[in-house]
Amino acid sequence: MKRRKKALWPVWLVGFMLLVGGILGINLMVQNVIAGNNSALENVEISPSAYPGLDIETRTKNTKHYILSISSVLANSKEINTPIQAWVNDQEKKFLAEVEADAEMLQGDQRAELNITVETNKINDHLYSLVFTSYQFKGGANGQSIIKPFNIDTVDNKILSLSDIMTYDKASVDHIMSIVKEELNKQKNVNSYVFEEELQKSIKNPSEWKWSVGNGVFTLYFNQYEIAAGAAGTVQVNISLKSLQPYLKKDIAKKWNVTYENNDEPKRQKSIQPPLDPKGKYVALTFDDGPHPKVTPRVLKTLKEYNAKATFFMLGVQVEYYPDMAQKVAEAGHEIGNHSKGHPNLAKMSLSEVSKQITEASDLIEAATGGKPTLFRPPYGAMNESVKKVTKEQKTPIILWSVDSLDWKSRNAQAVNKEVARNIRPGSIVLMHDIHRSTADALPQMLKSLKKQGYQFVTVSQLLSLNESTGNGPYYNQ
Ligand code: ZN
Repeated sequence: MKRRKKALWPVWLVGFMLLVGGILGINLMVQNVIAGNNSALENVEISPSAYPGLDIETRTKNTKHYILSISSVLANSKEINTPIQAWVNDQEKKFLAEVEADAEMLQGDQRAELNITVETNKINDHLYSLVFTSYQFKGGANGQSIIKPFNIDTVDNKILSLSDIMTYDKASVDHIMSIVKEELNKQKNVNSYVFEEELQKSIKNPSEWKWSVGNGVFTLYFNQYEIAAGAAGTVQVNISLKSLQPYLKKDIAKKWNVTYENNDEPKRQKSIQPPLDPKGKYVALTFDDGPHPKVTPRVLKTLKEYNAKATFFMLGVQVEYYPDMAQKVAEAGHEIGNHSKGHPNLAKMSLSEVSKQITEASDLIEAATGGKPTLFRPPYGAMNESVKKVTKEQKTPIILWSVDSLDWKSRNAQAVNKEVARNIRPGSIVLMHDIHRSTADALPQMLKSLKKQGYQFVTVSQLLSLNESTGNGPYYNQ
């Protein structure tokens, strides 16, 4: 008994020491390397960071000609550490090579300097943005800073690339460019130094973007001299994630707990679409009263076959029952309009009742699809001043129709096709309902025949973009 106790206590002591060491932060690894011949003092320390699983490594080196101070982050994974270390080593190697080549730039007892610091932004439990700044002074009047962010996932053990979080194409890059310009405009002391051409060049190459994420903000970084005169230093542009929402990948947005609260401007369902040719032959197909679990998928399938975009005026109650269906419609790139919550005759309602019908439907649509509806269509086309007022406030123009397929009345595919064929012309807004099987039945023939006549199928907003007016409607179109 006694012997066993005796054998155990040193383990105990070691454990206790480690615990105390951890608390006091003295479990630092300290290495002093004194290289005799050039009297360099090198020091490496590794200490835990405020974030579990991430350590901070600090390395300093002093010689007669330079001072090196490098902070870096170490994760528990080679996949994360290797690229970061490679970048740090590369910085150091280039610095040393240049110091050696340009030693005469240094005057008197001036020493060159490489100072790498890192800022850690926590996105959530396992996603971090590590933003490195490398300041180099190699003589002359000024030093130079460059920025390098690494966005890491400590569960998937990887460094995220922009394409992991965002889909981008020319239209989205153009849009982001306009946001960046707007933001730079607000930075008065930076904006005057910006070279438009260099900025364009940098933004046009998304795979090279230096970016980070944190607190609902996407940040783009530019090295000193990259887009602006040196006096501007490194440039940083913050873009709210909500304004990038159309381009963010859904799963990552979820993972990042990207929330879009207290938005000044409600976010809109907006798919990225090229401008229309004013001479083109376009129609807007619209589907009301859905989404419907059986009919809507069939409508989506046919639209997809013809690469057609349409507009779905959804009812709040339907969205509440079938949020996944609503999301599928949005994901397929169709436009989503508000058709009130429960399909009442709004013309007979008070302002507060109208407001409730429209706002609640809008909130349900947003909850299901991640975006506010862009348009409003009153049930039965019935409106009053209250409807006009509320929709104006919500910036959802009132959309009626110019061709009624009468699908609600005939419930017959052939009759629907006949009615549409008889009345349609370029610029038409066609009223249909994705709650009747007969409408889904009619659609393949309708699209086939209209396509043959040279029609293209666009959303209502796209169609209206051809109009001069930008008011609240009501719009019937042709
Ligand atoms: Zn309706």
